[in-house]
Amino acid sequence: MEGALTARDRVGIQDFVLLDSYTSESAFLDNLRKRFHENLIYTYIGTLLVSVNPYKELGIYTKKQMDIYMGVNFFELPPHIYALSDNAYRTMLMENNNHVILISGESGAGKTESSKKILQFYAVSCPRTSLLDNVRDRLLLSNPVLEAFGNAKTLKNDNSSRFGKYMDIQFDFQGEAVGGHILSYLLEKSRVVHQNHGERNFHIFYQLVEGAEDGLLRWLGLERNCQLYRYLVQGQCAKVSSISDKTDWRTVRKALSVIEISEADTEHLFGVIASVLHLGNIRFEADARGYATLNSSTEMHWLSKLLGVHVQVLREGLTHRKIEARAEEVLSPLTAEHAIYARDALAKAIYGRTFAWLVNKTNESLANKDSTRKTVIGLLDIYGFEVFHVNSFEQFCINYCNEKLQQLFIQLTLKSEQEEYEAEGIEWEAVPFFNNKIICDLVEEKHRGIISVLDEECLRPGEASDLTFLEKLEEKLGGHPHFVTHKLADQKTRKTLERGDFRLLHYAGEVTYCVVGKEHSSWSGNEPKSFSFCNISTLPCSNLLQTRCLGFLQVATQFKSSLAGLTEILMSKEPWYVRCLKPNNSKQSGCFDDVLVRHQVKYLGLMEHLRVRRAGFAYRRRFEVFLQRYKALCPDTWPHWKGKPADGVQRLVIHLGYRPDEYKMGRTKIFIRHPRTLFATEDAFEMCK
Ligand code: ADP
Ligand code: MG
Repeated sequence: MEGALTARDRVGIQDFVLLDSYTSESAFLDNLRKRFHENLIYTYIGTLLVSVNPYKELGIYTKKQMDIYMGVNFFELPPHIYALSDNAYRTMLMENNNHVILISGESGAGKTESSKKILQFYAVSCPRTSLLDNVRDRLLLSNPVLEAFGNAKTLKNDNSSRFGKYMDIQFDFQGEAVGGHILSYLLEKSRVVHQNHGERNFHIFYQLVEGAEDGLLRWLGLERNCQLYRYLVQGQCAKVSSISDKTDWRTVRKALSVIEISEADTEHLFGVIASVLHLGNIRFEADARGYATLNSSTEMHWLSKLLGVHVQVLREGLTHRKIEARAEEVLSPLTAEHAIYARDALAKAIYGRTFAWLVNKTNESLANKDSTRKTVIGLLDIYGFEVFHVNSFEQFCINYCNEKLQQLFIQLTLKSEQEEYEAEGIEWEAVPFFNNKIICDLVEEKHRGIISVLDEECLRPGEASDLTFLEKLEEKLGGHPHFVTHKLADQKTRKTLERGDFRLLHYAGEVTYCVVGKEHSSWSGNEPKSFSFCNISTLPCSNLLQTRCLGFLQVATQFKSSLAGLTEILMSKEPWYVRCLKPNNSKQSGCFDDVLVRHQVKYLGLMEHLRVRRAGFAYRRRFEVFLQRYKALCPDTWPHWKGKPADGVQRLVIHLGYRPDEYKMGRTKIFIRHPRTLFATEDAFEMCK
């Protein structure tokens, strides 16, 4: 017993629910830290998995480990992402219903790695018939493809996902993985044309330039030198020591063929990627009236060839915009500054659509051809809450998304808890928690929410501006407890706000969004020196874009409705949670920054989750399972109990000396209020083994 205690002291407790001082954040952190230093990166809160990024290989993701976790009761082995994956899988097969694993945490916390581990677990461990081997390969290899096009090196993560991803893995009734489907959200297109210092563009550009065969580069009009392309060098870190673009290029090429993208399509794909690089090198000069003129004939030649658009059409498109006046279309020249905006907008649009095309192609290849009913396990790997020095429209969307997910978490956790007590006929008392619905409403409410105000302003081209947008917000939202601007703030807060900002008090903390264009230190030359909130939606665009409906307008509204769609998908499934924590900001192994982790514990709502878990009944087990495990502890139930399982459990717990207030008998399960009770039983079980 003493030995067991010492071990527990050293490695901490594997389930926070068993922690004595469960309301103490410090005790929570102590336990997490202790385990982290023992390379135990996983800890449970009931069935929720907390994971701390080790920033080193731990050797815990082998086939042998997978086998150990396959089909074993959740709490019988040390916490692991495989245990959660297996548990979701077993429940899906047993109950024939759909599940979703929600993975959250800030950038670099390990979300994407977690989702890959889960996918690998299913691809490798599930039963298989040789016929469908290629489905598993496609599922696995869809990852490097989407990562090449959707991930980039950022300051926080050398392989940061710059899009949100939801993936369904489909299983047949035998539990075999037979197909998949991917939805992508809000690709960070601005990265195509601008990168902050120390950051890169999407991996694929560097892979292409570094890795492509000479012949292909020649055909694309590219040279093997990233420094030559303006869109690749703004962050001044085209080369990254942890990344081998050449090797990754080979992986991506192979993966593209596995997901059945034809050679011809692959060529076009790289043609389009190369065209973005050429586009970025196009320069404009201003004529005497300030209108854009264009000289870059080499780039124009390659663009024309790769996009299949006549040079003259391109030239006109890049320097003019189309205006509709009384059912007539008039070409109006762009100023040099607007032409740069238009060029960049075109590059972003081309890239965005290419990414969407790639996701579609991947889905075609993952589609299950058999129409019998499938059950699915969804995986959601979506960007975490973001706060930068300057926060713009993209952070606004990302943080809004996180508000929605938090709202979902609150609803599903509390709802499912409540439903379970109701179904089992057990009374319980709700735990107070901060409901962030008020912030979701602030963003998305009809007529007065921020998005609807933004839309209104975007529909008044010429009249509306960043400032009128801000004024309208002030008018409609003044007095809202989670919305502040310079004008609305009290004296003390005012000092921390600029006139063109608004601040939202998110559930995870304050974020100040810059509405009006701000000087951006890393922009140079004749690039426009500002970016702004409304501009995202009302950017002057060349007529190349206006001929094809780009839908600049109401970007936020589109995002809002795609989030509503996602929420619906998630709500219809049984949720499992993986909460990823980042131990330090320097991507280092063995370093646990208390302040940083404490902050994440707070905004991921882990303490609240723990309290909800503890307020009711910490543990619940089906009568049969409980009896099977502990029957040896009571002479009446050992070796077999012949009566009803509920009666056997009753006999067993009376024998063990449970007090009536320590447990409740539901309809199918026993509920144990305090983990200590279960812990003592577990200890007794260990001793008698
Ligand atoms: P996120 O998707 O949350 O931004 P990633 O999953 O990309 O973060 O993780 C960032 C980096 O951290 C990875 O590239 C890897 O180096 C490291 N990492 C994350 N999870 C693990 C893990 N379980 N084991 C080892 N290293 C990890
Ligand atoms: Mg990621």
